[in-house]
Amino acid sequence: MIALRKTVAAFGLDLAEVAAPGEPGPGRVTIAVAAAGICGSDVHAYEWTPGYAFMAQALPVTLGHEFAGTVRAVGAGVADLAPGDRVTCWPTITCGACEDCRAGRPQGCAARTIIGLHADGGFAETVTVPAANCRPLPPGLPLDVAALTEPLGVAVNAVDVAEVRPGDRVVVLGPGPIGLGIAFVAQERGARVLLAGLDDELRLATARAIGIAQAVDLRGESLEAAVARVFGGPADRVIEATGVARSVTDGLAALRSGGILVVAGIHSGPLSLDLTGFVRSKKQIRAAHDTTAPALDEAIRLLAAHAETLSRLITHRRPLSDGVAAFELARSRRAVKVLLVPDQPDADDPTVSRTRTRA
Ligand SMILES: [Zn+2]
Ligand SMILES: [Zn+2]
Repeated sequence: MIALRKTVAAFGLDLAEVAAPGEPGPGRVTIAVAAAGICGSDVHAYEWTPGYAFMAQALPVTLGHEFAGTVRAVGAGVADLAPGDRVTCWPTITCGACEDCRAGRPQGCAARTIIGLHADGGFAETVTVPAANCRPLPPGLPLDVAALTEPLGVAVNAVDVAEVRPGDRVVVLGPGPIGLGIAFVAQERGARVLLAGLDDELRLATARAIGIAQAVDLRGESLEAAVARVFGGPADRVIEATGVARSVTDGLAALRSGGILVVAGIHSGPLSLDLTGFVRSKKQIRAAHDTTAPALDEAIRLLAAHAETLSRLITHRRPLSDGVAAFELARSRRAVKVLLVPDQPDADDPTVSRTRTRA
């Protein structure tokens, strides 16, 4: 079968022919991939940006951690999944033995690894994963929309970390797939949401298409001015999903005294912060990364309830064999979520769009 692999510790990816998997081992399942999304971290791995050197020891590895599909085979001891089941996957594998794992905080496991970054992932016709990482999908949730589960789970977790409550004035910075998800989830929880981008009209139009009324381009207006105009006062919460350090200081300036700012972007540069002003304002900075089991379950519920709306986050579908070109598209701001679809997807599944057209 073909797979999109990171083979060398340098810029690029290879479309490679790899052996089809044998029978899955004990506790593992093989999934026929229906669709797999290209994530910002996949693009970082493709570009080999600083901070991804940890992957060097895993090479060669098939990328892809946002996927959904149909169980094709189950290994010994797998009781709750059977061939034909439709599933998505939490890509984080924890050690199960450290203090955090034993205390029920698997997201704190320092030994955790990610399917699609440390181990072969979903940019292939099949992927073999621990059964415990699989989540069954409700009927009626199309598999391509279900491929949004992991990024939406990341968004739900960021909203959880921000402790967003009904009526809160929430600013979301960065209209990429995670920021769009955060804005949607916060609005679902009854918050008033302002989503801000910079020179980002296509993705702000996607925001409006999923019901985020206040999607603002900061080309012509400062963040503080936009927040004052929309909310009539400072924000209760700011959630940053840009990866630009400056957006943290801008976000703090738009936040009320005692408000919470959550950093959810992956940053390549340090933050310079006036600590005296920060202390006197009693503002809180928190970090959100990855997701939790309850957040992942909520993401599946939201996708099932709003499948049609949230499918608008998928702006492009590309055959896996066009994967490298699809990565170039994902690097541009001309796309929101790009899905890779195996060239021979599981023929039994009618819920996957076979669209091959180029946008
Ligand atoms: Zn991701
Ligand atoms: Zn652990």
